[in-house]
Amino acid sequence: MSTEAKATTKALEHQRIAVLGYGSQGRAHALNLRDSGLDVVIGLRRGGASSARAQADGFRVQEPAEAVQAAELVAVLTPDMVQPKLYTEAIAPNLRPGAALLFAHGFNVHYKTIEPRADIDVILVAPKGPGALVRREFEIGRGVPCLYAVHQDASGQAREKALAYAAGIGGARAMLIQTDFREETETDLFGEQAVLCGGVSELVRHGFETLVEAGYRPEIAYYEVMHELKLIVDLFYEGGLTRMLAFVSETAQYGDYTRGPRVVDAGTRDRMRAVLKEIQDGTFAQEWTAEHAAGLPNYQALKQKDLEHPIEIVGAALRARMPWLQVQQAATATPALKKVG
Ligand code: NAD
Ligand code: MG
Repeated sequence: MSTEAKATTKALEHQRIAVLGYGSQGRAHALNLRDSGLDVVIGLRRGGASSARAQADGFRVQEPAEAVQAAELVAVLTPDMVQPKLYTEAIAPNLRPGAALLFAHGFNVHYKTIEPRADIDVILVAPKGPGALVRREFEIGRGVPCLYAVHQDASGQAREKALAYAAGIGGARAMLIQTDFREETETDLFGEQAVLCGGVSELVRHGFETLVEAGYRPEIAYYEVMHELKLIVDLFYEGGLTRMLAFVSETAQYGDYTRGPRVVDAGTRDRMRAVLKEIQDGTFAQEWTAEHAAGLPNYQALKQKDLEHPIEIVGAALRARMPWLQVQQAATATPALKKVG
């Protein structure tokens, strides 16, 4: 494992960076890169909401093709599913030989839904956190740890460019870890499916339903299995299991040691392995690409079901009575936190 804490932005000084997309990651990267003294333009379809936001933040906004033509580095920060079309139409015909194409997630390169031209650098800088955090940490003088990787090195400078970009968005203040596109893509998808998004939300939902079906009030169940989760996760973040165990009672620890493994057991592990296998063999990527191409019918239905779950109904009512939570949400720009990514 290679870690780089002393990377600087030198390899990108006096180079034009085009950031395509101005959502969660795009906005955070663009603002941080500019504050690091680098030359940034935004590539977006004109007239959209993102475009107005980028202009309000003081950026020059161009059509993606135009932004690509003048750039030495192009950061592709649109949703993964629209990247192949964007690559074919706006990037491939316009990118200068020897320029760098940068991704924040390896999905399209790894699954070959984008097959980059041979005469360009293809690199990855993936912050291990949502865009709002990438920006907020930068503003207070810190950074979010980033993975970086080189898929293709046409210029002989690909690694230096990736490190310089990672430094420019603040990652070098935290930790930069070298990886490859496969490892980043597969671990990122597994994390969000089995643990971060899928695993945790199912655990919370089942815990809530178990308490409510046993006759306990939904308000109590909500505080117990949803609200209090934050305290536990904050302790994980600060000091792992050690710190969590140091803060909970002996009774809670004994329950953890003896009951936890009954809830999440070897069967769960087998199913995690099956989920990982579908990521590794491309089944998940194929399914998701087809779902997107079909106009997201299942995605929309499943999302609606989540939004209408009783834990969301009682949760909305309780959160409305905790005004300090709304203040926190405003500070972290809610839409940018919509994905773990
Ligand atoms: P997002 O949905 O927040 O923003 C996408 C942006 O792309 C918007 O500004 C949108 O207007 C723009 N856009 C959409 N279609 C476009 C098109 N055809 N041409 C130009 N612009 C277009 O996306 P995001 O969550 O920031 O994800 C961007 C990349 O970052 C993805 O590769 C994702 O996997 C990766 N990533 C995301 C996170 C995260 O926390 N969200 C974390 C790490 C990596
Ligand atoms: Mg991730």
